[in-house]
Amino acid sequence: ESSPSSFDVLVIGAGPGGYVCAFRAAQLGLKVALIEKRSTLGGTCLNVGCIPSKALLASSEHFAFNQHHAAEHGIKLDNLSIDVGAMLKKKEDIVGKMTGGLAGLAKARKVTVLNGTASFIDAKTVAVAGVDDPGSSTTVTARHIVIATGSAPVELPFLKFDGETIVSSDHAISFTAVPEKLVVVGGGAIGLELGSVWARLGADVTVVEFLPQIAGAADKDVVRNFTRILKAQGLKIEVNARVTGFKDGVLTAERDGKTLEFPADKVLVSVGRRPYADGLGLDKAGVELTDKKRIKVDAKLKTTAEGIYAIGDVVDGPMLAHKAEEDGAAVAEWIAGKAGHINWDLMPAIIYTDPEIATVGMGEDAAKAAGKKVNVGKFNFAANARAHANDGADGFVKIIADAETDKILGAQILGKNAGELISEVVTHMEYGGSAEDLARTIHAHPTMSEAVKEAALAVSKSAIHAL
Ligand code: FAD
Repeated sequence: ESSPSSFDVLVIGAGPGGYVCAFRAAQLGLKVALIEKRSTLGGTCLNVGCIPSKALLASSEHFAFNQHHAAEHGIKLDNLSIDVGAMLKKKEDIVGKMTGGLAGLAKARKVTVLNGTASFIDAKTVAVAGVDDPGSSTTVTARHIVIATGSAPVELPFLKFDGETIVSSDHAISFTAVPEKLVVVGGGAIGLELGSVWARLGADVTVVEFLPQIAGAADKDVVRNFTRILKAQGLKIEVNARVTGFKDGVLTAERDGKTLEFPADKVLVSVGRRPYADGLGLDKAGVELTDKKRIKVDAKLKTTAEGIYAIGDVVDGPMLAHKAEEDGAAVAEWIAGKAGHINWDLMPAIIYTDPEIATVGMGEDAAKAAGKKVNVGKFNFAANARAHANDGADGFVKIIADAETDKILGAQILGKNAGELISEVVTHMEYGGSAEDLARTIHAHPTMSEAVKEAALAVSKSAIHAL
């Protein structure tokens, strides 16, 4: 009874949530279709998000080496210049390699990829409209449908995107020249990363943040030091400032009743992302939204409609690629009758600036605010030799452990490659490890990861290379 257009699983959206779900479902022997309106797989993350931004961060960091460290290494770089076109081409080449890789994997796994825009006809049937020819529509049916349509940049009503002066991250990863004055509205991960990229290449960058601190909810000591370091790199950071508008090349904001003015030739609005389910026809399938306009799901990511699931940015939770991936894999396993597993409490979050901020679990401030008795071990990279050799001596590792049981509750790292370093703490936490477990684990010398071990030792006041 299986017709070419009838599937076990139909996944709408091929971002990290959707393609992982489709690939896992196919691995488990299900007949899978993956619908995507972009011409390539990989979604926001691979096409205009995580990966292009990291490519630009790497390129710009090489360039910034000149300003900050070259001379002390005895390296002379005269007449340095940046070819922005070549930098963008490298970024696009990386994205092209990875999207091509996904297309190859989809084919090898016999996942049917349908290029088009999906909309529900009913809870088991989806129309796929051709991207180039929206009149040409095919209909597919499936026993299980997974909505993985992701998110889109939030637009401010008084700062509408024009793609030229007022832009979202979609454009700020593709400026064809270094802007003279860039104002970044919103000091979260995306704004700080892209602000750093263009500042390193010579732009005069001001980050305007509404809240009292940038970098979201990281611990105060982390953010205080992070802000100091970014300022030393030339970024201007204005907190407690509410943006009010943009006129004649000047962005205005208000703080304590006073008007602030920031001249800008580009304004990057990075105040967050909104769940995206535009034009999907959710009502036809009986899929309901939460009051925050995310798709309503239960603990197993089931929507209010039988047989329909939703994953990734379009549902509640942090809008992170690895979160979407875990959702996707678990849903595929649940559909196949297996025991999918997601530990949403152990979701690392990274800001990929230099230094990076990496956090997982409960922070020190949050633990104390909750009245939890904790022991905090802190170790500065200044006492780690490899960090000095790597130009990464500014920053620290903090391990937060339960005062009674010593179980690790969280970690916060400010430092070069903090995003790589936090992974071992996450692993220890996944297995319910204690600070002592981490402290007794051998770490190769000389590596920056020794600072993680020392921070774990510091939980019981027994760090070797610090008092
Ligand atoms: P998406 O990746 O948004 O994919 C959804 C896909 O669905 C899209 O390709 C869209 O075209 C498609 N689609 C939507 N509607 C339809 C329809 N009706 N029919 C067919 N197709 C449809 N996260 C990290 O973890 N680390 C990072 O370093 C990081 N950096 C980022 C940097 C930037 C600049 C941005 C913008 C985001 C970044 N993110 C990062 C966030 C990350 O990109 C998202 O969390 C992730 O992409 C969410 O995955 P998803 O599968 O839920 O949705």
